[in-house]
Amino acid sequence: MKVMKFGGTSVGSAQRMKNVTKLILGPKPNFVVLSAMSGTTNTLVEISGYLYSKNADGALDTISRLEKKYMQHVEELYSTDEYKTKAREYLHATFDYLASFTKQLFTPVEEKIILAQGELMSTHMVAFYLQEQGVNVELLPALDFMRTDENGEPDYIYIREHLGAILKEKAGAQLYLTQGFICRNFKDEVDNLQRGGSDYTASLIGAAIQAEEIQIWTDIDGMHNNDPRVVEGTKPVRHLHFEEAAELGYFGAKILHPTCIQPAKFANIPVKLLNTMEPEAPGTTIDNREDPGEIKAVAAKENITAITIKSSRMLLAYGFLRKVFEIFESYHTSIDMICTSEVGVTMSIDNTTHLPAIVSDLKKFGTVTVDKDMCIVCVVGDMSWENVGFEARAVDAMKDIPVRMISFGGSSYNISFLVKNEDKKRALQALSANLFE
Ligand code: ADP
Ligand code: ASP
Ligand code: MG
Repeated sequence: MKVMKFGGTSVGSAQRMKNVTKLILGPKPNFVVLSAMSGTTNTLVEISGYLYSKNADGALDTISRLEKKYMQHVEELYSTDEYKTKAREYLHATFDYLASFTKQLFTPVEEKIILAQGELMSTHMVAFYLQEQGVNVELLPALDFMRTDENGEPDYIYIREHLGAILKEKAGAQLYLTQGFICRNFKDEVDNLQRGGSDYTASLIGAAIQAEEIQIWTDIDGMHNNDPRVVEGTKPVRHLHFEEAAELGYFGAKILHPTCIQPAKFANIPVKLLNTMEPEAPGTTIDNREDPGEIKAVAAKENITAITIKSSRMLLAYGFLRKVFEIFESYHTSIDMICTSEVGVTMSIDNTTHLPAIVSDLKKFGTVTVDKDMCIVCVVGDMSWENVGFEARAVDAMKDIPVRMISFGGSSYNISFLVKNEDKKRALQALSANLFE
């Protein structure tokens, strides 16, 4: 079975939903994962914001505007009154449910329920459409099998066992359909896999059912060698190693959710990035093959904070780094880049929730400086240390840009630079010019 995930843009209108249904039907049943229609999750986040601040009018107004849009989609999507009514009733109940949250205490538990409605609506709309076309489709509720554990990590065994049992029970369908992004946590509450998490759902399902392939369908022809929103003339990369794709996901290439690659990689299932607007285009294939000596792509992640701790006590001392890292660990803050010298260490983080506490704890060990509004720019490809020349080309590209830190050697697939947010565009352009032209 193939897993096919369609992002928000691919199901962003009635016409696009119809186009998707042409891609998913084949001689064998596929397993289809859908995001919410584009813009919906953002609107649900906005509604939650109103509810947190007890602005019932703001919430109700936004809910009713969203409902109007959906009712318009219903008119365009279905051709029979029977299915128009079915879809209207489902959606109307959903919007009534959203409105009911103005009357109760609003906590992150309720917020997660609200955020789940986008994927629930898009999958129901597509399922009704397929049924109207006479397709024998099984809509499998993701909340019945997608689950995270105490650490918020996917519960692989639970997913495999529950999904396996469900598929056995529902054998014989022409097509399986489910929601991306949403899941239950270990307390059985509705939860999600973070923004952009539908890619992760697809990869987890692919691994759980040992799919032959995982396809991520979006609005662009595969992973590009640089961010097409920032740099002109970017080109699709036709092949990436799993490690390269993971680095690009972590470091800001928005096309793939950062952790999505892992399950596919462990299960050794190839991932294809494909374009809904141009289904015949080759896209990008991600698997375990290497392309010796090739530099593939550049990506950037903004709003990074660099923290330096300098201490003369670090000189020739052991155990210093452990003490420093333990502080970050105790605040559940992960470190992205690190550089050390004999007297100091600089680390970058992207989650600054506990920054003041971290800095105050670090001060016990030395002098601390913090630089905010920084950006990680990373170059990805085969950068085995035995290869020569690639460091020079990357560093040369940065010759006019102030660089806060450089990291190489942690993996043979990347070199990272930390620059100011405001220099992101310049850095991405200069790297493209030096590496790909
Ligand atoms: P979806 O809704 O399908 O999940 P996303 O908005 O999450 O789509 O991601 C696709 C978008 O990511 C593309 O339209 C493109 O603008 C952007 N993007 C950022 N970096 C890259 C890159 N390196 N290659 C391709 N697309 C990228
Ligand atoms: N709808 C969710 C989001 O916008 C999940 C996804 O689209 O992948 O983040
Ligand atoms: Mg996405």
